[in-house]
Amino acid sequence: MNWSSKESPQYQAIVIGAGVCGIYQALHLKKMGLPATVIERADDVGGTWYWNRYPGCRFDSESETYGYSFSPEVLEEWNWSERFASRPETERYLQYVVEKFDLRKLMQFGCSVTSAVWDEQERLWRVGLSDDRLLTTRFLLTAIGLLSEPTLPRYPGVSRFKGLSFHTYHAPREPVEFRGKRVAVIGTGATGVQFIAEIADKVDSLTVFQRRPNWCAPLNNALISLEQMQEIRSRYSEIFKKCKSTAGGFVHDVDPRKALDVSPGEREAFWEELYASPGFGIWIGNFKDVLTDFAANAEMSKFVARKIRERVKDPRVAEKLIPKDHGFGTRRVPMETKYYEVYNRDNVTLVDISETPIECITETGIITSAQEHEFDIIVYATGFDAITGAFDKIDIRGVDGQRLKDKWKDGPIAAYGLAVNGFPNLLTLAGPQSGSVATNFPRGIEEAVDWCTDLLQYAYLHGVTRLEARRDTEEAWGVEVRKWAQRILFGSEQSWFTGYNSNVDRAPGIRYLIYAGGAPRFRKHVGGEATQGYPGFELR
Ligand code: NAP
Repeated sequence: MNWSSKESPQYQAIVIGAGVCGIYQALHLKKMGLPATVIERADDVGGTWYWNRYPGCRFDSESETYGYSFSPEVLEEWNWSERFASRPETERYLQYVVEKFDLRKLMQFGCSVTSAVWDEQERLWRVGLSDDRLLTTRFLLTAIGLLSEPTLPRYPGVSRFKGLSFHTYHAPREPVEFRGKRVAVIGTGATGVQFIAEIADKVDSLTVFQRRPNWCAPLNNALISLEQMQEIRSRYSEIFKKCKSTAGGFVHDVDPRKALDVSPGEREAFWEELYASPGFGIWIGNFKDVLTDFAANAEMSKFVARKIRERVKDPRVAEKLIPKDHGFGTRRVPMETKYYEVYNRDNVTLVDISETPIECITETGIITSAQEHEFDIIVYATGFDAITGAFDKIDIRGVDGQRLKDKWKDGPIAAYGLAVNGFPNLLTLAGPQSGSVATNFPRGIEEAVDWCTDLLQYAYLHGVTRLEARRDTEEAWGVEVRKWAQRILFGSEQSWFTGYNSNVDRAPGIRYLIYAGGAPRFRKHVGGEATQGYPGFELR
């Protein structure tokens, strides 16, 4: 096809989303001097850290590994106050970065992208916004988050409740007064666990509706003094080097020993040490076979079950909190601060809805098969339509009008998780199957954004106005993604990693959303693609 453009796009690049990923991409586009804009549905930057205003929200990455690594000045100026920073602190950090690099002028707030239609003749995207504007851009970059489409349960009556109710993602901006209130929480994933532990001692009564328990482990958070921060600062290059070397982009690295090769005493001592250490070490810094071998995993599960029994006084409640249908770490491990002790309180009740299911929500509370409960506040910590949910919300149409939602109906497929055949000039930063989505997020997205920026630079240097992942590239990547998912126990467990969400209509079965081959291997794949001049892409 001969290509002659009659229409110049308004922008060379539109980024959707001004969270951790969109901010970093905006910075690169500004440096490149391209006409570019960022469209953000919220009225400020932050993404995840803007929305999730529920009490207790914080990340599980060591703070010093969560900040951007690109700017020595930022590293010098910013002080983290806790080992694992809270949501407000992270939001402030992102605002500070945006001000420092004067990125707000690239950003448009309070409007969503509703559609994006590829125009083959003009080689541009026509981007529709919720305020009815239509923009055009040569390249479209999605930075729309992994967990940005919250899902509510489909119980009858959810909208009938007359008290205050919200999904944790949409927790009110103004602090909620929980004191003296009868509060219900539905959901015990990483979000529910944080929220429950934070509010249990502040409410009149707390009733937790649990369907499947998760294996939780202590976060072991602590304050960081200014002296400690100085010491951290002196090690930044070492810290980032370490993160680069590990599969998950964390400071935690898998232990080269096998759990069953060491003596029971040695195993136990190591697990005790991990249980008392900060962060994800217990999950991703464990013996190398704990997440790949059922027997090793079963031993680890027994250890954590024992801890739960020690911490929860009522043995019947403890048994309900111990997962029986999956092993430790085969779903995302919620990190907790005195979560299990919450169930020793007189004002807290655990309702096992696998035994007595919720039948409906009423104007005044929740009815289970066993009884009616009255509440002032119902909080839904019921998770997200992970990764592809945010894409499905936008009507994205590629070559010949093909809808991305249709292409991904039975599961996503994307070259390195960053580009999709049939959808030219679309770069899915941190998209499904990208290496960056299974890592400490900022570490992963810095690499994905750097890589996509290099690709854009290459395109400009070589006069490329249309780039598209080849079909065989994305197919080969799909094989690689499945291979690693099958080697790791969480690759077959029902959780958001595998696209499970009971609140969404979807054919049963695993959706391969994340690349479990590890960040160094991902880097090798995409790095090879770039150094060879992008043979996996068609460049015109
Ligand atoms: P989640 O892990 O998907 O957990 C959702 C919870 O809601 C599960 O307990 C689920 O039960 C329950 N649920 C869903 N629908 C339900 C229904 N209809 N009836 C009853 N229960 C229902 O979601 P999340 O807790 O929001 O966490 C999602 C991810 O966000 C985490 O895995 C993590 O990656 C991220 N996150 C990170 C942090 C952090 O960094 N500390 C904090 C919060 C979240 P079933 O298990 O039975 O489905």
